[in-house]
Amino acid sequence: MRRKIVAGNWKMNKTLPESLELAENLKKELEGQCLCGVEVVVAPVFTNVYAVAEALKGTGVAVAVQNIHQMKSGAYTGEVSAPIAKSAGATKVILGHSERRQYFGETDALLAEKTDAALAEGLEVIFCIGEVLEERKAGKHFEVVEEQVKNALFHLPAEAWKNIVLAYEPVWAIGTGETATPEQAEEIHAHIRAVVAEKYGKEVDEEVSILYGGSCNPKNAKEIFAKPNVDGGLIGGASLKAADFKAVIDGFKC
Ligand code: PEP
Repeated sequence: MRRKIVAGNWKMNKTLPESLELAENLKKELEGQCLCGVEVVVAPVFTNVYAVAEALKGTGVAVAVQNIHQMKSGAYTGEVSAPIAKSAGATKVILGHSERRQYFGETDALLAEKTDAALAEGLEVIFCIGEVLEERKAGKHFEVVEEQVKNALFHLPAEAWKNIVLAYEPVWAIGTGETATPEQAEEIHAHIRAVVAEKYGKEVDEEVSILYGGSCNPKNAKEIFAKPNVDGGLIGGASLKAADFKAVIDGFKC
């Protein structure tokens, strides 16, 4: 069964005390609330993962890292591997975020390696795909996301997909205040689903959650999450305030 997931990507924001304050505020917001089956995830910066994971222990909120290196250990100054992230309390990793692709030159081939490294450690992968504005204007968005999924993930055996969550994030909507319409999100999610189903069959497809990301906020979450092929959201800006993040989660209110 597809899971409902709302994940907050804190990006390069929040010092250690600020991260702890946000975690505590989130805890308060969620206390005693029915989450209607929604899994909540937060992704702080590496240095704050351990403290945030400790602070959120027992709340059901999972902690993700925003990246990993593809190797397990070694002379890779400044990098963090899957086993190290896991030992700090992360159970998930965001891979393929457009900012990693754009500013750090991450390619589909590298992301395939990182995905393997994460899965080998039992980290769930929230794998981001999405087109840039020029590609959307040229009508190439279906093709672009399809290639991203195929190139980075189609080497995986079917059973590995139980630890893969996809996040469709049109790059033109990330941090811009411009959101894909619920219809735009739905049509591309349905397309991605069909691509996965064609390769792996219905059984895998029916288990894979596809999140929407890109200026998703308390005002538009409900309408976007109502679409049949949208299983939740990857949230940037609106995850930096506990009340806003909770309001996004409430987009799923039962
Ligand atoms: C993101 O960075 O994954 C994201 C969706 O950001 P924002 O919600 O700020 O657009």
